[in-house]
Amino acid sequence: NPPPTLHQPELWSHDFNDFISRCLIKDFELRPNVLDLLQHVFIKQTVGREKILQKQLIELTDLNQQIGLIEKTRIKDQTAVVFSENTLDLLTACFFLFQNIVTEQLQSRYSRDQIYTYVGDILIAVNPFRKMEIYTPQHTKMYIGAKRTANPPHIFAVADIAYQSVVSYNTDQCVVISGESGAGKTESAHLLVQQLTVLGKANNRTLQEKILLVNSLVEAFGNACTAINDNSSRFGKYLEMKFTCGGTVVGAKICEYLLEKSRVIHQAVGERNFHIFYYVYAGLADRKKLAHYKLSDSKTPKYLCNEHIKLGPDIVSNAFYKEQFDAVEQCFKVIGFTLEELGSVYSTLAAILNSGDIEFSAVASEHQTDKSNITNMSALENVASLLRIRSDELQEALTSHCVVARGETIVRPNTVEKAVEVRDAMGKALYGRLFSWIVNRINVLLRPDSQLGEAEKGLNIGILDIFGFENFKKNSFEQLCINIANEQIQFYFNQHIFAWEQDEYLNEEVDARMIEYEDNRPLLDLFLQKPMGMLSLLDEESRFPQATDQTLVEKFEDNLKTKSFWRPKRVDLGFGIHHYAGKVIYNAAGFLSKNRETLPADIILLLRSSENELIRKLVTHPLTKTGKEATLLLSGFCGVFSPDPTNCGDAPYHPRETTNMKTQTVASYFRYSLMDLLSKMVAGQPHFVRCIKPNNDRQANKFDREKVLVQLRYTGVLETAKIRRQGYSHRILFANFIKRYYLLAFNAHEEPPVTPETCAAIMEKARLENWAMGKTKVFLKYYHVEHLNLMVQLT
Ligand code: ATP
Ligand code: MG
Repeated sequence: NPPPTLHQPELWSHDFNDFISRCLIKDFELRPNVLDLLQHVFIKQTVGREKILQKQLIELTDLNQQIGLIEKTRIKDQTAVVFSENTLDLLTACFFLFQNIVTEQLQSRYSRDQIYTYVGDILIAVNPFRKMEIYTPQHTKMYIGAKRTANPPHIFAVADIAYQSVVSYNTDQCVVISGESGAGKTESAHLLVQQLTVLGKANNRTLQEKILLVNSLVEAFGNACTAINDNSSRFGKYLEMKFTCGGTVVGAKICEYLLEKSRVIHQAVGERNFHIFYYVYAGLADRKKLAHYKLSDSKTPKYLCNEHIKLGPDIVSNAFYKEQFDAVEQCFKVIGFTLEELGSVYSTLAAILNSGDIEFSAVASEHQTDKSNITNMSALENVASLLRIRSDELQEALTSHCVVARGETIVRPNTVEKAVEVRDAMGKALYGRLFSWIVNRINVLLRPDSQLGEAEKGLNIGILDIFGFENFKKNSFEQLCINIANEQIQFYFNQHIFAWEQDEYLNEEVDARMIEYEDNRPLLDLFLQKPMGMLSLLDEESRFPQATDQTLVEKFEDNLKTKSFWRPKRVDLGFGIHHYAGKVIYNAAGFLSKNRETLPADIILLLRSSENELIRKLVTHPLTKTGKEATLLLSGFCGVFSPDPTNCGDAPYHPRETTNMKTQTVASYFRYSLMDLLSKMVAGQPHFVRCIKPNNDRQANKFDREKVLVQLRYTGVLETAKIRRQGYSHRILFANFIKRYYLLAFNAHEEPPVTPETCAAIMEKARLENWAMGKTKVFLKYYHVEHLNLMVQLT
């Protein structure tokens, strides 16, 4: 075979290392030494090794050629530093070179409408921002059971590999899709499901149809228009498609993570509430049913008021929203929701909208200046009637609260501020629970037939569509959670990449701890450890009524003694974290209240008295937790996740203990769901899709190189290349090793025995460190080999 070239990245093979070396050598007439230099950069072996590197560099015969190379790739600023002969600078230059090669490739392919590229076994998808003719039924067919090299890179090929692995090895698979907002994760997830339903040849068409509709339904409730993406997912989603050993799809299940509930009550400038509110409003108006759901056709509900959105033209007579309403209703029906359930869903949504319009005013009295009164009783009546609860009780629950002191229950009035808080908490909680209920109901409706035996419904292909790493001007609790999730996924990614190598180490009985890589475990401990991790500290502080966001940050500062955490000067309530993907400054304002997110017991009890079954369900205790889940909750993060096939029972749809507000916080639930997600992922073989956004303007045919480069760094594509080099890249059978290098330790006429001891003797003579001995092979790093070769030349 002729060597592949950099201009045929579709041929980028599993052996990325080998590929790059062959390409570099061919395209740039690079000598292998330069490749080794690149590798040094990747593994950050440079620190403390500058001397060795310097020496190696001097020994390189063709330094000029390397300098030529760097000019060739037009890294202007870097050329000068190369001449400075500073080793580290040269290495940096090499790193830039590598980044540039990848970026350049992506750009040139993108300009030819090739949005997909493999880098190693990762699929990179660059968002085309326009309709592509590459998802036709012909394409579907083309990728079924085809060899990877037979077709251009494609998301359908990923579906195919996952599917073939399920069928051939009967192991769970999991596709991890990552990328920043608007990069194309959700679209990719849709395309995967589309291809997988074809592959899974669902023998009943209805099931196929249902699975395809699940995404649209969940997205109507969980997606919203943001400043960045008109259809931005405001929750993390893990969709599992269930297959028989024979490869027939028999069901599906969704898990949702971290829905951004605050959006229900407030949207930033230029953003909107969750899609479904607009769909329902327009749809009900179309059917002349607004009055029935106590919605006005002339006054925009507060929760939908943002900027200049006009109720009439922008919402009520919006043809697109009406269409979407019909589509959503159709999804509900096809999946199997009853008409009664649908009516309850609309009532709940309408109740939430109406609740936003309940207003309060302060009542001044001689003794109590902090009482509040409801000023528009009609809104209160509307909410009560939609939720089928008593309006006087609702009024009481909003404007007062109970405290238990010395065994006595005392009713205290709420200030206006407090009453607003309770009102908003109710809106958020109702929406969050409604969302979870829908997801849970879908799971019940799409559960594999109970007639099937365990073996017949046991295999999963999971698709994870989760928010990428975020670093905004202002970063709050939400960003912290999102970034912790990403940190955890990166950890998993590392584990996985190493797992392959570790298999061989295990077989050879090489001590696997020898592998060095940039482990983000310390950072995970910083967040998740108990009792001194950040989330635990947050929970602890959340339990003190007197605590403030200021005392929280101080607590962090007193307890988190690591380089990865610091307090920036001049930022009140600020703290910095050095994530794997970069440094982020967070602002702790609102952390405590966001973490507590309590719904007063009075409200819960009141909703439990509703005459509407759905409302009651939303606030009833979930199915009792299984022992296992309880343990997970209690133990928290406990390190490396082991596969646990028993953990696929039906998760309760709102596993938070609603009345036990002292212990259940957003942070502890988050920790639990992260664990749950990881235990699922670890059980499967992963595939990675990294979505890249080529520009910030959502424009087709526009490729901003700087922007792409930053994402390649964040999403860890370059990291992977790096990680790949951190193991023992050379594993040589004892006999071969001795034959090649025995002269370094023995005389030419000697015939040393083929034993590990002989190999060790050679290594010691060559003064090598950090190698490992297997049962049949020696395990070497690439620089060992380089060094050995050099020494052999010299003898
Ligand atoms: P978020 O994190 O905000 O949910 P996302 O990564 O899920 O973002 P998507 O909603 O999937 O992003 O994509 C944003 C937009 O980009 C889509 O609405 C669509 O217009 C366009 N897009 C993404 N992928 C493709 C594709 N393969 N073909 C055509 N258009 C695409
Ligand atoms: Mg999305």
